[in-house]
Amino acid sequence: VFSQSELLNSLPKQFFASLVKKVSRYVAEGHDVINLGQGNPDQPTPDHIVKKLQEAAANPLNHKYSPFQGHKYLKQAAVNFYAREYGVDLDPEKEVAILFGGKAGLVEIPQCLLNPGDTILVPDPGYPDYWSGVALAQANMVTMPLTEENDFLPVYENIDSADLDKAKLMFLNYPNNPTGATATPEFFEKTVELANKTNLCVVHDFAYGAIGFDGQKPLSFLQTPGAKEIGIEIYTLSKTFNMAGWRVGFAVGNPSVIAALELLQDHLYVSIFGGIQEAAAEALNASQECVTELNNLYESRRNVLINGLQSIGWNVTSPKGSFFAWLKVPSGYTSEEFADFLLEKAHIAVAPGIGFGTFGEGYVRVGLLSSHERLEEAVRRIQALDIF
Ligand code: PLP
Repeated sequence: VFSQSELLNSLPKQFFASLVKKVSRYVAEGHDVINLGQGNPDQPTPDHIVKKLQEAAANPLNHKYSPFQGHKYLKQAAVNFYAREYGVDLDPEKEVAILFGGKAGLVEIPQCLLNPGDTILVPDPGYPDYWSGVALAQANMVTMPLTEENDFLPVYENIDSADLDKAKLMFLNYPNNPTGATATPEFFEKTVELANKTNLCVVHDFAYGAIGFDGQKPLSFLQTPGAKEIGIEIYTLSKTFNMAGWRVGFAVGNPSVIAALELLQDHLYVSIFGGIQEAAAEALNASQECVTELNNLYESRRNVLINGLQSIGWNVTSPKGSFFAWLKVPSGYTSEEFADFLLEKAHIAVAPGIGFGTFGEGYVRVGLLSSHERLEEAVRRIQALDIF
């Protein structure tokens, strides 16, 4: 047995691994578990994208190594997508990097820009993979609380000024996992102002960019004047096109950050299979009707869940985007205790808020990745517990 490196040992423990184990145990015992705990899209990839992959897989040119930094046509498709969807102009040569999914870019970026001990600002609660990138870069993480009273947006005035002076990098994510909050133009403007003042690079994780409710299309950070000068946005096809298993995304924005990402990736991998790049370009360039339909599906599921829970007396607020609802747990329970209670008594799995950071305590995250019928059944089972 070989011992692991200190770096590997320093990585954060996977909080949700124990939840997955618990759920599997209930399933193995034959219980009908409604799993609302995970974030895996339940719908298939649209047909036209799958067909493009099938065709492209048969092309011998795609059987060779792809160019190191990805195919130009995919970068151009990302540029077309940003111009069409957000009115943002990008240079395909300098302002786009192809990624093996959003997670790869998010984990790579601290290593691209930080030296050991450098400070990075990370939202709490937040997507746990941010912590992995911070640990791999041996950076110093300062968390920014996201609270309901501030619409789950960080309040920059509350960050310790010494931390702010030292910080080189900041992660943001709207529509937000886990809270379902969205950003306002004013908040993004304030972010650009702060970054200019403190020489900070902003990384906006736009994983849920396609999912916004009540007629509100989520804002791209790059729509904010000056954003490209101080940061990048990470986009993934995982959620927008139900392509989570395909592992494809891209980063767009500041050319020096894009160059740093491409340099690190040159050392880590050769680019994605050409067939997947062709299919990803098809997804970005073709009609976006499938995206509108998907957004409508999530919105109707949100309505079923939130209206249902409110009707049984659970005082929950409605997410504005993403495919998660962030529900306050009843008093007397920690988030983990309440998640265990729901699993044990109602065979419903939810993600305890504490798994997303200290400020996640007091909430559970519920995914909108099950059918109307299953969500209605979940509401019925919760009603039968008679706790509200
Ligand atoms: N960012 C957030 C907030 C997410 O929730 C996820 C996936 O769950 C990702 C990024 C990464 O997605 P992918 O690596 O599939 O692109």
